[in-house]
Amino acid sequence: MTRCLNCGAERAADVCDACGLDPTAAEFALRRRLLNRTGFFALGAIAFVAASTRYPPLDSDGVLIFIAVLFFPTLALAIWVERRALRHEEVEALKRIYYGLVPLPWLLAALLLGNGALDRAAPQIEEARVVGKVAMAGLLPIRRIVVVSWREGHRVERIPVVRSDFDVTSPGDILEVKVMGGLVGIPWVAGVSRR
Ligand SMILES: [Zn+2]
Repeated sequence: MTRCLNCGAERAADVCDACGLDPTAAEFALRRRLLNRTGFFALGAIAFVAASTRYPPLDSDGVLIFIAVLFFPTLALAIWVERRALRHEEVEALKRIYYGLVPLPWLLAALLLGNGALDRAAPQIEEARVVGKVAMAGLLPIRRIVVVSWREGHRVERIPVVRSDFDVTSPGDILEVKVMGGLVGIPWVAGVSRR
């Protein structure tokens, strides 16, 4: 007994009783759906990065690593499902896991947006001494000012900043970092100013 690649129903004959597609048509339908969902997933990852730029979490490196750890294995899973579909092998379970992961970046983007946009609490101003700067060019340029941490158990903080702040800051400066608590408890940086 094998399952139809299109609708997942068990089929005894070549043509699926449930949806009426033969194996080739079912494979085509599945691959088209995989492609659409992968596009939706990739857009979600972009939305997530945009949200993390708009309301940058204090632990922004950790957040970006998290999305990378989610993103690449999920894409690999999509490729695996497609490879199996090409060989007309069983894909039902893998397909369900993949479809379950697809909306995740969108949910996380909404979480970060809500965490920042709906945060009505007063910011906390932290004074911190600058010890370095890190910039990475690329599609999404990364600019961080490294300061001595004010949090227990943290040696330094890598504060995400906009370019104008990045350019005028140098090691030794004292920065005032405006830290927000976040609606759902993810602290984020509302801005920096030099004393
Ligand atoms: Zn079917």
